[in-house]
Amino acid sequence: MKKLLVLTTVLVLFISSLFAQRVVTVYTDRHYEVDSEIFKMFEQRTGVKVNVFSANSDQLLQRLALEDKNTPADLLIIVDVGRLHHAKRMNLLQPVNSEYLMRNIPEKLRDEGNHWFALTKRARIIVYSKKRVNPAEIKTYDDLTNQKWKGKVLVRSSTHVYNRSLLASFIALYGEEYARNWAAKVVQNLARDPSGNDRDQIRAIAAGIGDIAIVNSYYIGLMMNSKDPDEQAAVREVGVIFPNPTHVNITGMGLTRFSKNKEDAIKLMEFLLTPEIQRMYAEANFEYPVNPAVKPASLLVSWGTFVEQNVKLSLVGELSDKAIMIFNQVGWK
Ligand code: FE
Repeated sequence: MKKLLVLTTVLVLFISSLFAQRVVTVYTDRHYEVDSEIFKMFEQRTGVKVNVFSANSDQLLQRLALEDKNTPADLLIIVDVGRLHHAKRMNLLQPVNSEYLMRNIPEKLRDEGNHWFALTKRARIIVYSKKRVNPAEIKTYDDLTNQKWKGKVLVRSSTHVYNRSLLASFIALYGEEYARNWAAKVVQNLARDPSGNDRDQIRAIAAGIGDIAIVNSYYIGLMMNSKDPDEQAAVREVGVIFPNPTHVNITGMGLTRFSKNKEDAIKLMEFLLTPEIQRMYAEANFEYPVNPAVKPASLLVSWGTFVEQNVKLSLVGELSDKAIMIFNQVGWK
C-alpha cells in the first residue's frame, strides 16, 4: 500500500512536470520598451515564459550574490564591460557552450572563458558645436588634449563606467603612461567640473557652456527622436565625430552560476543574437548590432562607418580598476 502511494506520487509529479510552465528569469539593468517586446516574442514562439526583474546593475549584482544558490535568476543582462567583468569575478556567472553564440559574436566582444557575451554595441564618440568648431580639427581622442580647447571640453564624471572603460581601453592599447597623460590633459581643458549624464553634455554645448563633448552614440538618436522639444533643439546644435579608432562598449549577458533553467536560458541568449532581434535592438535604440550580419539603423549608417579600437573587451574589463586609480591621480572628478 505504502509502495503504491509513493509510486503514485512520483507519477503525479512526473506528469505535472511535463505540463508545468517553463520559465526563464532575467535580471536586467536595461529599461527600454523594445526589450519587453523582444521577450514577449520569445514567449510566443517557444512557450517559455520570461520573468523580468529590473534594477540598476549594482543592485542586481548584490542581489545575485545574496541569493546565491537560491536565486531565481537565469540570465543577467547589464551595461558595460567593466561591470560584466566584475560579475564574472564575483563568481556570479557560469560558462556557456554555444556554437551559435561563438559564430555570431566577434571574438573581441565576448569573454575568453565564455562567462559573458555582447548583446549590443555602443560607440563613445565626440560631438561638437556646429557653430563654433571646425570638425576637421578633431580626428582622435588625443585631439581633445590640444591646448586650443582649453575651457571647451565637456564630459561626465569619472565615476561612471562609460569613462572608466574608455580610459581602460587606452591603457590596454597604449599603456598606463599614455592614459594618465591623456586624462590629465583633458582635465586641463574642461569647461566645468564633470557633472550630469551624456545628454547633459550635449545640452551644455547648446547652452554655450562648452564646445566639444564625449558621449555615447545612441543618445544622439534618442534625443533627435525625443518627445521633449528642448532635447531636439539641443541635439540639432551638435555634429558627430568618430575618433579614429573609436572606443566601443557593450551591453552584455551571462548565464547565472545557479541557473535552474539553463537550457531555456541559453535558448533565449541565442534568440537575442538572431538577425531579426539584433535588428530590433538596433532600430529602436540606435545601438550597433553585435551580429555582423545585421546593418545598423539608417541614421547611424548616415553618419558613415568608423574604425573600432582593436582591443579585446575582456582586457578592457580587467583594466577598469586601474582606470579608476588614474582618474583619481589626475583629479578627474
Ligand atoms: Fe547610457
